[in-house]
Amino acid sequence: MTQRVYQAWKGSNKFIFGGRLIFGPDARSVPFTVLLILVPVVLFCVFVARHLLHEFSPYNAGYAILVVPILFTIYVLILLSFTSARDPGIVPRNSHPPEEDLRYETTVSADGRQTPSVQIPRTKEVMVNGITVRVKYCDTCMLYRPPRCSHCSICNNCIERFDHHCPWVGQCIGLRNYRYFFMFVSSATLLCIYVFAISALYIKIIMEHQRGTVWMAMRESPWSVALMIYCFIALWFVAGLTGFHSYLISTNQTTYENFRYRPNSRTVAYNRGCANNFMEVFCTKVKPSRNNFRAFVEEEPPRVITLPTVITTTTKETAEAEDEVGSRRQKVEDDLDIGDDLMNLSQRCNPAEASNDQPHQTLDIDQSALGFAERAATIRTETRHGSWGRRSGSWDIAADVANSNVRESQNYATAKEERG
Ligand SMILES: [Zn+2]
Ligand SMILES: [Zn+2]
Repeated sequence: MTQRVYQAWKGSNKFIFGGRLIFGPDARSVPFTVLLILVPVVLFCVFVARHLLHEFSPYNAGYAILVVPILFTIYVLILLSFTSARDPGIVPRNSHPPEEDLRYETTVSADGRQTPSVQIPRTKEVMVNGITVRVKYCDTCMLYRPPRCSHCSICNNCIERFDHHCPWVGQCIGLRNYRYFFMFVSSATLLCIYVFAISALYIKIIMEHQRGTVWMAMRESPWSVALMIYCFIALWFVAGLTGFHSYLISTNQTTYENFRYRPNSRTVAYNRGCANNFMEVFCTKVKPSRNNFRAFVEEEPPRVITLPTVITTTTKETAEAEDEVGSRRQKVEDDLDIGDDLMNLSQRCNPAEASNDQPHQTLDIDQSALGFAERAATIRTETRHGSWGRRSGSWDIAADVANSNVRESQNYATAKEERG
């Protein structure tokens, strides 16, 4: 049965409504965050704002005190959902390393054996606004991260303009949701200030009505006091974040860059002046998502990358080497996951098939040996190969494996030419 993209998703994200909404793996914190906002607002409406409905002239002006926080809370919650339930800017993974960046290399061991290998450079330099920026290769996503992109270890995705992973909203903050994140945090700050101020006002009104002390008024309305303490503590957090991100936006930095790098060319490259930086964050169109989570997964045809290396061997083959082939072959198949293509390849390597035009120097070569060499020199990458260069960024073919069974390199080269 054909799967949808979100069902075959390799990141750690959680999806709901058939892939329409995407969260980080820690999405469980979102209801908690919602409660941290909703509970104090409900308490405020019930124990503070309700008593102020008729306090102001004209008579019904006090209703605004109740309606404003309700509407504002809805707005804050919408911003929260925009931040945490949408694609923050995930760069779709590749199913194989970028072919144009592969380097084919051959290493020669002391005994003259040649080992062909495919390597992918760890970094690459790109130009950003006239400044050279080094971008890194992501082993997991098998791509060169675009400038400012970073791999979130929690979500296990590369995120464009990665800022940080926010545990409170259970989502990465990146290119597509940074603006909503900032608006959420700054709006939450305003809501805190509002609730604090009106609670304080209520205490003052009680004092005036009863002509008592502030302590007496506080005893009269303990919920006002509790709300003021809660908002005071929350303000340190959200106002601090708002201030910090205002600074970051004004200098066009991300949290990740600010913590990781000193101000240098890396951050200077993006700074276009305070006003333009704010415009860039708030007044540009949000880039469409690069992922269609509900699309059906397309089967990618297997890819063949053939090393342009002629395998030669100067060592004499021994009977033991022949015997070992079976076990070695098993190892290669396990490592490379190419077992199912085995038949295909050895048929294509059939010397009889290749000998129509050009004579071979020798025919002293058995078919399985040639097929084996071909397999060693040919890397098949398929969608499910997750181990491509995972650790070192290179994929080396063991010398003994590549050379174990080829007696005369000329045969191999000839056979290859003719096939092509
Ligand atoms: Zn990545
Ligand atoms: Zn994340």
